[in-house]
Order: sequence, then structure tokens, then C-alpha cells
Amino acid sequence: MSGKLIVIAGPSGVGKGSLIKKLLANKPQFVLSVSATTRMPRNDEIAGKHYYFLSENEFDQKIMSGDFLEWAEFSDHKYGTLKSEVSNILDAGKNVILEIELAGARQIKQAAPEAISIFVMPPNIEQLKQRLESRGSELPEQIANRLKIAEIELSAQNEFDWVLVNDELEASFDQLLKYLESVTE
Ligand code: 5GP
Repeated sequence: MSGKLIVIAGPSGVGKGSLIKKLLANKPQFVLSVSATTRMPRNDEIAGKHYYFLSENEFDQKIMSGDFLEWAEFSDHKYGTLKSEVSNILDAGKNVILEIELAGARQIKQAAPEAISIFVMPPNIEQLKQRLESRGSELPEQIANRLKIAEIELSAQNEFDWVLVNDELEASFDQLLKYLESVTE
């Protein structure tokens, strides 16, 4: 049985990261594809675990070598899914989780129509704003930028196979698990 490609998208600050962290800790058949990015690491981020942190030059080299399954610009930085990451996970018979933004999710749908796509949305914009502010990892103008992108992303939710409203982590996680089990068994 071969693994599935699962895209999890949704606005920055919606809690995709917490849901995915819980999934990875509980269900070893799901493995996160570690993306490459040109943004700086946050305090708690580990290179090779959360992202491969690359310079602009290194990232551009990889674009030219055709190393990315998809890549996109988000809030002044580049982010991309490495083909090698995805194939290593699939070859091991596991399901691949891609935590990516909207433009990347659209590229995956084009390149791999069989991919399963999930959109995580906040109960309301105010909660998103509060989560971004309390995370404390972005400056106020970066938060404003992320909220602007969030509005665009929210309007694209109907392009996804399934939409999850992340109100309360435990309850949302249970729903996510049920859905994932129904599409991967
Ligand atoms: P952050 O800077 O908060 O880690 O990520 C910003 C946005 O980039 C998030 O929406 C995240 O899902 C997205 N992202 C992370 N990795 C990738 C990737 O490999 N490709 C694309 N297209 N987006 C990504």
C-alpha cells in the first residue's frame, strides 16, 4: 500500500502547526515533509526539523535545478517543498503531510490531482489576530501583512477537499484524525 500526499493549508496563526505536531506525535504513519525557506529561524526552530533554512542564492539554485515540487513567495520570503523529502517519505510507505500556503497548495493540485487537501480555518478573524499577536514571533507590520494574506486565503477554502474549523485543539484534532483515517485506509 503506498502513502498519500496530504496538503494542509490555512492562514498563518490558525493552528495548523499545533494540529500537525499532535498528529506526528500520535500517528507514525504520517510524516511531515520539511520545507525549505529563506526566512530566518524563530527562537525555537531547529534547522532540518522545522525547515531547511537557505540563503536566497541557495534557494534559487534549487529552483534552477528543479528540486522543488512547488514553491511560493509568502510575506517577502520563499518557501518550497523538496521533491527529495516527499519521495523519501512515500518510498518508506508513509503518508506525506505538506504544511503549505495557498499558492503552493494550488501547484500541488495541478501536479498531483490525487493529493488530499485540507483547509484549516479560524472560527473568526479576531481569533487569528490574537493568536498571531500572542505567538510573538512577528513584528506588528508582519502580523498585519499575514492578516491581509489570511483574508485572501480564507476566500479560497472551497478549493479544498475538506475544511476544518479550528476552534478548540483537542476537538479539532479528533475531527482531523477521523477524516485522515477515512481517506488513507
Ligand atoms: P511560517 O513563516 O509561519 O513558518 O510560514 C508561512 C507560510 O508558509 C505558512 O502558511 C506555511 O504553511 C507556508 N509554508 C511553509 N512551508 C511551505 C512550503 O514548502 N511551500 C509553500 N508554498 N508554503 C509553505
